[in-house]
Amino acid sequence: MPHVLSATDMPAAELLRRAEAWRQRLTENATPPIQPKAALVALLFYEPSTRTRAAFEQACVLLGYHPLVITVEASSIVKGESLQDTVRTLNAQGVRAIVIRHPHSGAPQLAAQVSHTPILNAGDGAHEHPTQALLDLYTLWLHYGKPDPTTQWLSGRKMAIVGDIRHSRVARSNLTLLTRAGAEVWLCAPPTLQPDAPLQNAHLTSDASEAVRDADVVMALRLQTERMAQGLLPSLNAYRRDYQLNTPRLQLAKPDCVVMHPGPIQRGVEIADEVADGARSLILTQVQNGVYVRAAVLEYALEEK
Ligand code: ASP
Repeated sequence: MPHVLSATDMPAAELLRRAEAWRQRLTENATPPIQPKAALVALLFYEPSTRTRAAFEQACVLLGYHPLVITVEASSIVKGESLQDTVRTLNAQGVRAIVIRHPHSGAPQLAAQVSHTPILNAGDGAHEHPTQALLDLYTLWLHYGKPDPTTQWLSGRKMAIVGDIRHSRVARSNLTLLTRAGAEVWLCAPPTLQPDAPLQNAHLTSDASEAVRDADVVMALRLQTERMAQGLLPSLNAYRRDYQLNTPRLQLAKPDCVVMHPGPIQRGVEIADEVADGARSLILTQVQNGVYVRAAVLEYALEEK
């Protein structure tokens, strides 16, 4: 029974191919006939989400499962039930898989220790967001013409991830998948938003020009104010000036550089309107690809082995 807890334990090449099969299926027929199963997949969301939750809900529907969405406010969690007991309860009711988003790093790993069904990590604290990283990888794989995914197909490409690296699970999971595919990854944040411990295989800088110069791909990250201790960002104006992805900054990148963002975007803060909505932006393509990738991951986790 495969859990999907971190980017490290995902068979990325296989999942890219599965996602591509879903894209083609849905391109041919956006509402394919589905044989519904009398079975539930639980989406346990302890933190807000729009894209990830909607994509997992759609993935459930595409695979014939009914998504059972449980949010903190509307569950026994507010009565003090532990995560493990919630998982045991859902297992006892026969749910086929549990997708978990949680503010604490390591929560899905804890759930996997007691679960009889696959646990899928939909983002845990500042730790990991494996399916986001996979959809980012898939987006680049399509953009670069679907090279053999078992090779170092991003070799020679420079990728800059700019923003709140310290609190970003997206940056951590992306670093794993992108470097495995051969990319040179630069992480850029102001000194107060850099990670406590060094992240392996990454170039770390607080100089956005150094990160963006000659990049093939630039990903902007949201300031995760919900995870920020007060005082980490003394001035929003200075942040905009030094780190915002705007037209002058993007001119440092390669002429065919593309722009990504995991969303939600904060327009005018980490990214300027003209870049978010510009011709180089893959932001909405990422969102769309999120559906194919979640369908692929759920299919992989639920497949009879
Ligand atoms: N949606 C992403 C996440 O859940 C990025 C963000 O929230 O800024 O980590």
